Amino acid sequence: MTFYTCLPLALRQAKLLATRSFSERLLHRNLSASQTLNDKHECQVLVVGGGAGGCALAAKLSSRLGRNKVIVVEPADKHYYQPMFTLIGGGMKRLEHSYKSMAEVLPKKAKWLQEAAVEFDPESNTVKTSGGNTIKYDMLLIATGLQLNYNKIPGLEEALAIPNGKVCSIYSPKYVDRVFDCLRNIQGGDAIFTYPSSPVKCPGAPQKIVYIAEHYFRKLGKRNDINIKYNTALPVLFGVKHYADALWPIVKKRNITVNTRRNLIEVKPGQDIAVFENLDNPSERFEEKYSMLHAVPPMSAPDALTRCKQLINEAGFVDVDQSTLQHKKYQNVFAIGDSSGSPNSKTAASAAAQSPVVFRNMIAALEGKPLKDIYDGYASCPLVTGYNSVILAEFDYSLTPLETFPVAQNKERYSMFIMKKDFMPLLYWKLMLTGHWNGPALMRNLLSVFKFGK
Ligand SMILES: Cc1cc2nc3c(=O)[nH]c(=O)nc-3n(C[C@H](O)[C@H](O)[C@H](O)COP(=O)(O)OP(=O)(O)OC[C@H]3O[C@@H](n4cnc5c(N)ncnc54)[C@H](O)[C@@H]3O)c2cc1C
Repeated sequence: MTFYTCLPLALRQAKLLATRSFSERLLHRNLSASQTLNDKHECQVLVVGGGAGGCALAAKLSSRLGRNKVIVVEPADKHYYQPMFTLIGGGMKRLEHSYKSMAEVLPKKAKWLQEAAVEFDPESNTVKTSGGNTIKYDMLLIATGLQLNYNKIPGLEEALAIPNGKVCSIYSPKYVDRVFDCLRNIQGGDAIFTYPSSPVKCPGAPQKIVYIAEHYFRKLGKRNDINIKYNTALPVLFGVKHYADALWPIVKKRNITVNTRRNLIEVKPGQDIAVFENLDNPSERFEEKYSMLHAVPPMSAPDALTRCKQLINEAGFVDVDQSTLQHKKYQNVFAIGDSSGSPNSKTAASAAAQSPVVFRNMIAALEGKPLKDIYDGYASCPLVTGYNSVILAEFDYSLTPLETFPVAQNKERYSMFIMKKDFMPLLYWKLMLTGHWNGPALMRNLLSVFKFGK
């Protein structure tokens, strides 16, 4: 492997320090772009992306490897807890509850370069950044998440820019505040909700907001005047049959129209019209007039990553082994979270369950030992079905339920709602981002003694 051919790390670092200017030696953990322009950096582990997966792994790795052995490249100054966006859409939380400053959440023992990765070169073990820096690494962890491609739907960004308009989206912090305004403003007509024809983070979220909206309209006494349509590109309501079977009676009872294989391809903001294609017969198009439109954008891995063909699979995600999460060709490259090509559902819960596997396998790879840890594809999706109920879906690669609690989780429960609303944010900020939460496998094993006869 390439990193074995490198100079021993301590030697390289001593050499590097000796050649650094005084100001460079005063370098703080946060390397600002101006301080580092056109600089060269070296590190034992480079983490690209400081979101849910990147931050958790940077915490674990920097705690194990020591101060300044890990560099995190992350351009954003805010770290969002994105699962809260659904609740913000329903007016249950506010945007300012959903973020902390990146400086606060990234581990103190890692160096943070506040720039974007713009070019990956796995042959030379380097990444170039937007500030003109080149970082050489022994090991690389790709944690860049998903890019939201609102611009791929003509008219959508214009519609989302109309002040107090009828189009909204829980998927971006830029637009999430519009959602509750739309729910409040609509008085009648069609409320249309979409699911795109692409991989999606939290595939349950596009329909969670449907249930929340339906409940809200009922609470306000305007439900009878509003038609609710969920137009999804998927052929099913939810990918795991066990939970889809629980969701269908809910949509029927609550009179929500579900149209499958319908993909939003254009928005005409001047006329309040959404254009859909029938994915089973793309020449067939439908124009639907909306009184409100909740749009979920198509998503992909970020462009900087998809430009590097050696690193990605056909679908455009990091081409890793689905068990070890190590790159299939470059043994010093791993992925975690939404940018990984492993065929799990893309959720923060998946990143949490991947985190101990990636951590232990990266350490094993660094030490030249065989990789032993296996990720089973665990994902979880708290399907919020209103202002006081959640179906907690948990499953693995085979789409078989892999549930934590000794209760029927395919039922709507208030306890799960409280867990989603109040407990999970704490778990995320306090345990996951600090590298102390490895997913619920341990809890599941402990609670399994109560599952008899479930
Ligand atoms: C509306 C909504 C609801 C959700 N609900 C749930 C839920 O209920 N449960 C759940 O488990 N998950 C949920 N999720 C999904 C969850 O938020 C993501 O799966 C999770 O954040 C993925 O972690 P990640 O580290 O892969 O990516 P992210 O957390 O998105 O982080 C990616 C990071 O990479 C950075 N980055 C991007 N490009 C570059 C680059 N070129 N160079 C450097 N850095 C870069 C970004 O700035 C970002 O900080 C939801 C998401 C949304 C949007």
